[in-house]
Amino acid sequence: MENKIVVAIDGFSSCGKSTIAKRLAKDTGYIYVDTGAMYRAVGYFGIQKGIITETTINEEKLQKEMENIKITFGNVNGEQHTFLNGSDIEKKIRTLEVGNAASRVSTINFVRQAMVRQQQLMGLQKGIVMDGRDIGTVVFPKAELKIFVNADAEVRAKRRHNELLKKGEKVDYQEVLDNILERDYRDTHRKESPLIRAKDAKLLDNSSFDIELQQKVVMDWFNQIITN
Ligand code: C5P
Repeated sequence: MENKIVVAIDGFSSCGKSTIAKRLAKDTGYIYVDTGAMYRAVGYFGIQKGIITETTINEEKLQKEMENIKITFGNVNGEQHTFLNGSDIEKKIRTLEVGNAASRVSTINFVRQAMVRQQQLMGLQKGIVMDGRDIGTVVFPKAELKIFVNADAEVRAKRRHNELLKKGEKVDYQEVLDNILERDYRDTHRKESPLIRAKDAKLLDNSSFDIELQQKVVMDWFNQIITN
């Protein structure tokens, strides 16, 4: 496809960004990059190495280890998986514990810089759909299409709770809701690249949308830009 663009999708935790991004990438033949998975990989690495505990992060040690954290993506049975130093960690990074560690490491300046650098390299050729918190503001401020996704916290918690139950994680709804509210707070209040809507981002509140309607809206926005 000629005329490839960069699509930046940002928004709060568990608002369906990755569903939108994956579908759009599939329908357009673009590459999908889940930047949350990259912060999760760093969080997972830190937990494994004892650098991150429930209450502390040894930043000095983490900084030294950053060069030993190689994150890649690969296709496994038609699904995109995250790899850390060659090992498939996709399943391991989707837990509440790792999500929380990711949210905490994502407030650290040197971690963000390392991730942003890698993400910018991935987008050099365009033809990419990237989702996260700072894609339209920091990683690709010149992205041709920016979308900011949100949904009510309770709606997001219900969706996330169902997802975790399906995966066999035994968590109660209140724990998931509290976790989402805590991450929302951290995402919007951190000093480094807080979650904000880029001025030129299109707003998509999907609290009462089904996936098909949402996808149609996004595809229409995409086509408008491509045909202009
Ligand atoms: O999107 P996901 O929940 O997988 O992201 C994990 C954590 O990584 C989030 O809680 C968020 O704080 C952080 N993150 C970030 N910047 C991004 C993507 C994710 O700070 N671009």
